[in-house]
Amino acid sequence: MAEVLVLVDHVDGQVKKVTTELLTAARRIGEPAAVWVGDGVESGRAALAEFGAEKVYVAPAEVNDYVVAPKAELLAKLAQEKGAAAILVSATAENKEIAGRTAVKLGSGVLTDVVDVNAEVVTEHSVFGGATVTHARVTTGVPVVAVRPNSVVPEAAVGAAAAEEAVAVEISDAAKTARVVERVAQEKGARPELTEAAIVVSGGRGVGSDDFSVVENLADSLGAAVGASRAVVDSGWYPNQFQVGQTGKTVSPNLYVALGISGAIQHRAGMQTSKNIVAVNKDPEAPIFELADFGVVGDLHTVAPQLTEEINKR
Ligand code: FAD
Repeated sequence: MAEVLVLVDHVDGQVKKVTTELLTAARRIGEPAAVWVGDGVESGRAALAEFGAEKVYVAPAEVNDYVVAPKAELLAKLAQEKGAAAILVSATAENKEIAGRTAVKLGSGVLTDVVDVNAEVVTEHSVFGGATVTHARVTTGVPVVAVRPNSVVPEAAVGAAAAEEAVAVEISDAAKTARVVERVAQEKGARPELTEAAIVVSGGRGVGSDDFSVVENLADSLGAAVGASRAVVDSGWYPNQFQVGQTGKTVSPNLYVALGISGAIQHRAGMQTSKNIVAVNKDPEAPIFELADFGVVGDLHTVAPQLTEEINKR
């Protein structure tokens, strides 16, 4: 069986949940081979093996010193050398760029914002606010597929053991043109990471001020991450790393709660594949209700605290 390369997302050696999802999807296609860039593989090895990585290619930390290009060179080189059947990455902004560059190097094609992939590498995409499902396939070369976090249910593999192999990477001069000068760790709160959270509670302009406690309290009662619309971020009410949408993060949680968000197409682009959507909006005509599974027409400052209180009682 051909190898399926999976670019590992990790923080300080801790494998992110999305990688376990990608490994699960990769097993449908062929033999999962994880591609680890940087230090800390000792801490991640067990998780990779648990989810079926038969191999782990470890590339030097230097690859992380430059912006995206060396990772594309690394993936393209491995795909060619190993005759890979596909390359899977998580659909983050950075990885989508890596995916595109890798596909160009391989003369193949890239499929982004994928919500499912089958054994033939036919991918599923949710478009037009979740109203339409499309399927796509790369017809030439090694498909490069960017899968949205929380789209695939991670399943442990039986009896897998990952064999490690160091890979040397010659970073080209072209790839060295954009260098990372500084990395600033984002403040780690008690809440789950937005793109990985099973539940997201987002606030929009309807919140009315930079006092986001009404959103945060509901999020905390549910063990959820907090998100925000761009209107909120542009107003300076909440930091931009929490923005959901076309120019923000893409989330696909089991439950997405939209408080005071109108449901503009650019916001939908970042949350339309959520499994269940609950909207609270005082305007019954708000477009978010077209997408919502459950809707409450009302003032979020009344509805959300009541919800929080009820949930906290349980
Ligand atoms: P509004 O559209 O103003 O909606 C506020 C809603 O709150 C209304 O529906 C109102 O009825 C309701 N409301 C008001 N008060 C209450 C209350 N007390 N209780 C309950 N409901 C109440 N937007 C994003 O979110 N993410 C993006 O990534 C993004 N990218 C963009 C990229 C481009 C190129 C462009 C042009 C736009 C982008 N936008 C993005 C902006 C987008 O078009 C909308 O302007 C934005 O999503 C609106 O945010 P909102 O729903 O919070 O505000």
